[in-house]
Amino acid sequence: MTQTPRRALRLSGKQRANLQALRLAAELRREVRGEVRFDAGTRSIYAHDSSNYRQTPIGIVIPRDAEDVVAAIGVCRSHGVPVLPRGCGTSLSGETVNVAVVIDTSHHMREILEVNPDERYARVQPGVVRDQLSLMTEERYNLTFAPDTSTHAYATFGGMIGNNSCGVHSVMAGRTSDNVEELEVALYDGTRLRVGNHEEQELERIIRERGRRGEIYRRLRELRDRYADLIRERYPDIPRRVSGYNLDELLPEKGFNVARALVGTEGTCVTVLEARVRLVHSPPARSLLVLGYPSVYEAADHVPEILEHGPVGLEGIDDTLIEDMRLQGMHLQDMELLPEGGGWLLVEFGGESQEESRQKARELMEALGSADGAPSMELFDTPDKAQEIWGIREDGLGATAYVPGQGDHWEGWEDAAVPPERLGEYLRDFRDLLDRYGYHTSLYGHFGDGCVHCRIDFDLKTAEGIARWRSFIDEAADLVVSYGGSLSGEHGDGQSRAELLPKMYGEELVQAFRQFKAIWDPDWKMNPGKVVEPYGITENLRFGKDYSPREPERLYFAYSEDHGSFSHATMRCVGAGKCRDIDSGTMCPSYMVTLEEEHSTRGRARVLHEMLRGETIADGFRSKEVFDALDLCLSCKGCKGDCPVDVDMATYKAEFLKKYYERRLRPPEAYSMGLIMLHARLAQYAPRLVNAATHAPLLKDTIKRLGGLTPEREMPPFATQTFKAWFRERGPKNPASPPVVLFPDTFNNFLHPEPMKATVEVLEDAGYRVIVPERPLCCGRPLYDYGMLDAARFTLRRLVAGLAPYVREGIRVVGVEPSCVAAFRDELPNLFPHDEDARRLARHTRTLAEFLVEDADYDPPRLERRALVHRHCHQQAVMGFDAERRLYERMGLDFEVLDSGCCGLAGSFGFEREHYEISMRIGERRLLPAARGAAPETLLLADGFSCKTQVEHGTDRRALHTAQVLKMALDHGRSGPPGGRPERHYPDVVPDGGPALQEAAVVGGVLAGGALLWALKRRFA
Ligand SMILES: Cc1cc2nc3c(=O)[nH]c(=O)nc-3n(C[C@H](O)[C@H](O)[C@H](O)COP(=O)(O)OP(=O)(O)OC[C@H]3O[C@@H](n4cnc5c(N)ncnc54)[C@H](O)[C@@H]3O)c2cc1C
Ligand code: SF4
Ligand code: SF4
Repeated sequence: MTQTPRRALRLSGKQRANLQALRLAAELRREVRGEVRFDAGTRSIYAHDSSNYRQTPIGIVIPRDAEDVVAAIGVCRSHGVPVLPRGCGTSLSGETVNVAVVIDTSHHMREILEVNPDERYARVQPGVVRDQLSLMTEERYNLTFAPDTSTHAYATFGGMIGNNSCGVHSVMAGRTSDNVEELEVALYDGTRLRVGNHEEQELERIIRERGRRGEIYRRLRELRDRYADLIRERYPDIPRRVSGYNLDELLPEKGFNVARALVGTEGTCVTVLEARVRLVHSPPARSLLVLGYPSVYEAADHVPEILEHGPVGLEGIDDTLIEDMRLQGMHLQDMELLPEGGGWLLVEFGGESQEESRQKARELMEALGSADGAPSMELFDTPDKAQEIWGIREDGLGATAYVPGQGDHWEGWEDAAVPPERLGEYLRDFRDLLDRYGYHTSLYGHFGDGCVHCRIDFDLKTAEGIARWRSFIDEAADLVVSYGGSLSGEHGDGQSRAELLPKMYGEELVQAFRQFKAIWDPDWKMNPGKVVEPYGITENLRFGKDYSPREPERLYFAYSEDHGSFSHATMRCVGAGKCRDIDSGTMCPSYMVTLEEEHSTRGRARVLHEMLRGETIADGFRSKEVFDALDLCLSCKGCKGDCPVDVDMATYKAEFLKKYYERRLRPPEAYSMGLIMLHARLAQYAPRLVNAATHAPLLKDTIKRLGGLTPEREMPPFATQTFKAWFRERGPKNPASPPVVLFPDTFNNFLHPEPMKATVEVLEDAGYRVIVPERPLCCGRPLYDYGMLDAARFTLRRLVAGLAPYVREGIRVVGVEPSCVAAFRDELPNLFPHDEDARRLARHTRTLAEFLVEDADYDPPRLERRALVHRHCHQQAVMGFDAERRLYERMGLDFEVLDSGCCGLAGSFGFEREHYEISMRIGERRLLPAARGAAPETLLLADGFSCKTQVEHGTDRRALHTAQVLKMALDHGRSGPPGGRPERHYPDVVPDGGPALQEAAVVGGVLAGGALLWALKRRFA
């Protein structure tokens, strides 16, 4: 009998850990109803928050409800494994990453359990987003949860409670801790309890109850009594004391607020299962007064004086922030609204009526105007204008991260707070410190509360740089403490600041923090290494001196904003979480409907970043995990337009797929849809036959199955006469007029010629001679989506060669399909950054509206009808929509631009069998219900071929292209055609019941002849 050698049974440390993780995962799957994910892709995604830190979790649990949370913790306890509760993961101090089982409550636990407007409170699950509650209560009851972080549209209550978050309106109603009334919490030892406020009176009774609750309260009281004097002495009395645990809330004069003492514990003590939070009156009318001072220091000096006038918000920004935004083309129009100055205060007043809030602002203006050195002032009391100014402030972090021509800027010292009355003085000293270290940053933040934000150009990738950063932080902490301030004014201590807490509180109080944690978490398993007994500030860095990503050898795109580096592009995401906003904007359609972190832009960026690190994801560009994370990306470019740091996932996905499919067969849809430009060129010779085949019962399903397409959608029929054939027959008009090139894109030329014909008429009406290039040209749009980048380059080279003669003469090129215009303006210069003709073509290409409004100064025909407008996502991201708005205004349309994001079809995405369902869910979010709900007389406008197809498929209406609507006005005058459904007069392709049989006979004859010739040739060869 052969004996197994002993050595073969011995497992390495890593293998043992993997085996334990497998057992843990299996048990969690048995006990928890929610999702349990231990795969490398998901763990990579959760290895990051918004900070400089990175720790790969053991696994992720996405609980369905509180029972699931408790069950998950129970399993972790039985395995002795740490736990990390998590919301949206936007923390900036490293408190939301750990080697632990992450319990993500943001997916399923999003229920608002109760709103009591009379007693002014709400009960929420931890995954409820701040705006989810506040927008509803503001609208219905003029009540709000006051702390509003810049991340208010996606930050969760669990996270806000974890961090003791604050916001612009904390000036009005304090930090999160001031607005929490009761918590239901789960402890690592399995205890589940409710803790409240003002329990001083009930203390004796609770302690007498005994049990775990009694024991906790008894030990908390002992702790409080032991340290009460020291707490009174050492806790700074400032509005933004966020560092450290809230032991002050246990003092008798504060009423022994156990719930509030747990706020800001950053997941190190308990997991919040439910919260009762305070709602405060939200003045319905607001007026925003902007004050311009010579510099941010003078602006800060005047904070105390402004506070006396009772603003509900008081923020500050400096000129560096404005300059950084200018360099990146952000908020260019909005910043024109700022009054003269080099530092600004944004002062918001609230009132029951606009008159009241305006009056408060005017009183301040009068008081300031009569003093020496009065600031420049601008009052905005319409919500739209005020929102434009607030946008500048809210985008501060994104705008300061990657400023062109400067080093990358990082968190690391970004939210210290001092007494507001000493803010100006502090800022001057802080600037001196920055200068001494040669660091650059802008200064902005919640000046009314003395809290300052800055993102600094630390070098976090070399040993010297890290040592320098560490030394700077020490000095900065000393400076803040010397001002009686708090190391953190809202983001929490996490790992960034925890090591510095002895400077602020002294060793003895830090010992009290340890005891506080031990009362709740004696096993030390809740988010260990954060806040107390912390990891060092320079440990677990996302970069660090060993950071060495595997940069791919050959890149297709230029990544000019990332110094030509794919790894820089994939680390661009700062984790701000805007891609988790499910209510507005285009980014990110797949997250909006799945609520899966993996399907957010951020999740995808992180998985790519991890792929290049090669640690958790080891198989590089062949990785299935990465493929899966990118699979539901619609390449809609929403992120390119909406992400504050311009993460451009459509480009990264194309680059990834190119490498992923090297020496591999692509899926059938890549050949059926990705090569549509070739199929369409063939189909033009027998369109009726092709249409008959793709619409014939049984046959059509076989064709779709072979092509990887969904049986749910009809294939759009090919036109029996292409646009180009029509134009050849008809010929141009206005022979002596200035020329304009009309680009006949694949979709409109072969499938929807009518919008192109309408474009010709409109351009001629505008006084132009239309040129349609004869050569078959295509922008290659479908190729990018499948990573067919060699083919895309080939296609674009032909395109550039075909159009260069025109653009060299300065002739504009008009595109009817927005995604083609976007390809000319974005992909083209990105693939050929040094080709002058390509750059020229990018500069000369226009949408129809851009050309009419900006180049032709066209006086369009009037059409006084109601219209609902859906923007193509590529258009919104690359070209913007201003020209379209101006054109519609000039036409007299009574239009509403829908905040409908991506239509869901997105080129071929929604035609693919695997993606049909998600495509429809995205469409059903806004666009399709809006189209269905529109009155019959209302025009539906959408320029994108995909968007039009989605509307046609999902409703009984059809959307028209801008050109068709202009033609309608030319044909019918200002009222348009009478009756409902005006689109019925303007088909996209004129139906043709022509002789398919005859065509089939011709094609059949040609094929048979060919076969005969081939057979004869073989026979006699
Ligand atoms: C661009 C940007 C702007 C920001 N602006 C502000 C600002 O204006 N004001 C501000 O205060 N902060 C701001 N932040 C920081 C951050 O957004 C806030 O702290 C936010 O409230 C965190 O919410 P979250 O859901 O992302 O929490 P997460 O990051 O997921 O969690 C935060 C902490 O809470 C803990 N936690 C989460 N859920 C639970 C739970 N159920 N039980 C117990 N603990 C839990 C976590 O363990 C972690 O320690 C900003 C961050 C970014 C990136
Ligand atoms: S992808 Fe953009 S929006 Fe999303 S988290 Fe990253 S930086 Fe923020
Ligand atoms: S391209 Fe669209 S779907 Fe893809 S990550 Fe960006 S926003 Fe999301």
